Amino acid sequence: SGLRKHRKTYARISKKAIQHNLKNEQARLGANCELFAVVKADGYGHGAVEIAKVARDAGVTGFCVALLGEALELRQAGIREPILILGIVDVAYVAIIAAEKLSVTVGSLEWLKKAKLKMKNQNNSLRIHIALDTGMGRIGFRTVSELTEAENTVSDSKLFEFEGVYTHFATADESDETKFNKQLEIFNKLINKLKNKPRFIHVANSATALWHQQIPTNLVRYGIAMYGLNPSGHALISPVSLEPAMELISELIQVKEIQPGDTVSYGATYEATDCEWVGTIPIGYADGWRRSLQGQTVLVDGQRCEIIGRVCMDQCMIRLPKEYPVGTTVVLVGKSGTDQVTMEELAEHLDTINYEIICGITLRVPRIYV
Ligand code: PLP
Repeated sequence: SGLRKHRKTYARISKKAIQHNLKNEQARLGANCELFAVVKADGYGHGAVEIAKVARDAGVTGFCVALLGEALELRQAGIREPILILGIVDVAYVAIIAAEKLSVTVGSLEWLKKAKLKMKNQNNSLRIHIALDTGMGRIGFRTVSELTEAENTVSDSKLFEFEGVYTHFATADESDETKFNKQLEIFNKLINKLKNKPRFIHVANSATALWHQQIPTNLVRYGIAMYGLNPSGHALISPVSLEPAMELISELIQVKEIQPGDTVSYGATYEATDCEWVGTIPIGYADGWRRSLQGQTVLVDGQRCEIIGRVCMDQCMIRLPKEYPVGTTVVLVGKSGTDQVTMEELAEHLDTINYEIICGITLRVPRIYV
């Protein structure tokens, strides 16, 4: 929103990086395999509509989201391509889903039967993808008998268009493939029991697409790697070059010299031991710049500067190597000089994964597309 534009802290999103990451993966896909860009959670914090448009220009043929509201946001923005909702939607909304030509995940017989009743007087059919729980333990059918009943329910009714069947792996980003292979075996057993195969049989998130390319699938649900981040963090090396799309930038809004014994921020947890230059940056935990980032370093003029004292709601302080003028750029995530702060580095500091960092940058931070 325009109300967010007055501040100096922003997320810089590189459209080129998104295109680069998509092109690299598209070049590896088999002839019959489509790539759907996963833009749930506001495009992993990058802006769903903007990213969907960039991805569409790069030749992506469809999108995945988690929620009905996320799908409707794309439709309202003029995105006409197929959109698959990966989460379970309240069955009360099947008419909207059908009218908007969205595709929805079916995770249980109970849902399917209720949907059938709700669809009775609809003109449009409901496009469905059946989810198979092959070991993720989250959503989907687990047994042949249930799957068979689901297939019978959808195929004897014009109310449904059986468009896809899919699963999701729990360990595609790990070097030990034992559990992955077990899930794959269960998946193959289940789909072999289908009398009619739908158009899309799909298994691949980014990790599966990157490290299990040999597995036959005709739709890739490409999320984190499109944003240029490695699904495994540092554990596995990506076979394609990934260019991070998001940088986080701010600038010094106040600079001062403090004396030995002076303290910084709430709780006075930082005490200067020397005469020190301190810069204040207008970003805090209300921006998703988490409170436990105390001790993390950011880049000023290519140099590492430590966050000293507690991160506040809207501001935090760093120790500068010398006096810098107000307005000097601070790179919180991204490149400066020859150095770079990565999302993985923050994730390690916070004992989490890169996904959580990017999704956690709040809407208060403007997204600038370059
Ligand atoms: N498919 C499903 C079912 C998912 O839940 C997700 C994301 O969590 C994805 C695909 C995309 O995963 P990734 O971002 O690891 O590519």
